[in-house]
Amino acid sequence: MSSAAPLPLIDRFARRITYLRLSVTDRCDLRCAYCMPERMTFLPRAEVLTLEELHKVALAFIARGVTKIRLTGGEPLVRRDMMELVRALGREIGSGLEELTLTTNGTRLAEFADDLRAAGVERVNVSLDTLDRALFAKLTRRDSLPQVLEGIAAARAAGLKVKINAVALKGLNEAEIPALVEWAHGHGHAMTLIEVMPLGEVEGDRFDHYLPLDAVRRDLEARWTLTDSDARSGGPARYVDIAETGGRLGFITPLTSNFCAGCNRVRVTATGQLFMCLGGEGQVDLRAALRSDAPEAALETAFARAMGEKPERHHFEINAPGAAPALARHMSMTGG
Ligand code: SAM
Ligand code: SF4
Repeated sequence: MSSAAPLPLIDRFARRITYLRLSVTDRCDLRCAYCMPERMTFLPRAEVLTLEELHKVALAFIARGVTKIRLTGGEPLVRRDMMELVRALGREIGSGLEELTLTTNGTRLAEFADDLRAAGVERVNVSLDTLDRALFAKLTRRDSLPQVLEGIAAARAAGLKVKINAVALKGLNEAEIPALVEWAHGHGHAMTLIEVMPLGEVEGDRFDHYLPLDAVRRDLEARWTLTDSDARSGGPARYVDIAETGGRLGFITPLTSNFCAGCNRVRVTATGQLFMCLGGEGQVDLRAALRSDAPEAALETAFARAMGEKPERHHFEINAPGAAPALARHMSMTGG
């Protein structure tokens, strides 16, 4: 019987899943040192969901009560048929889907900003850890800062709201964080700082650059007036308003605080693996369900299993110096 209405996604802890982060590719045109090695092995294309499959996955989530979808990667804008997916999902806005957004490194935003806005996207998150061209080239192993800044300007010109996401890195962008906040707020962008997470093997040791955000916050408090904000995204970010810059700053501290009780989200990789928790290995294979003889029934079973297995909270910690990553997969699989 596959005619019954799909069940809403509610887990064992009565958390309702309303937010999907959907990775559309594991490929990327940058090589951020904390995210992936220079010689990253990307997936064979046959393993990645087709455009049609990505669309079906998104529709299956919308039918089960997901109201917000964030497209991510890898770098979503390097996937060739990406805009077709954005347009198809944009047509769902208002019929269950309330918001379609994307997280991008910004290198190709100048090319796509107008199309994104026309398809119904209102906000984009752009990852930018520094405004120093040499440091950008060192962190991402590519000299692309001018393109990213051009992309951000184009996004604003197209009418998109931009949020800047920056990973706080000890000894790298640490000293620049106040300037980066001032720059973002001065341009009317909200900004969020992220702690580096132990996901996937990279060259070098992330522990060397792990910068706890409570230290960053103390530093900012010494300089500015920070007021806690009630704003919540259902995710790990906590926000403050800064009187002097007139903007909002988020802190994502997955390693230093517990944000799991209100978790409303799941992630799907570009191969259709549904991860119930960014900090866990638990996964359910939606691609197998989609490619089975009875996809509707198989999807329903897969979703029921996922809701039964979503863990109460994550258990990762930044590793001791030299230790292996807490999870073998890279952030570019689940898209952050
Ligand atoms: N390529 C796009 C981008 O960079 O915005 C989307 C995917 S990227 C994996 C999503 C976010 O994850 C980025 O903001 C990036 O800085 C962050 N990220 C990647 N690896 C990380 C890690 N090990 N710890 C914390 N954040 C990480
Ligand atoms: Fe690419 Fe984003 Fe990972 Fe940087 S963080 S390597 S831009 S996927």
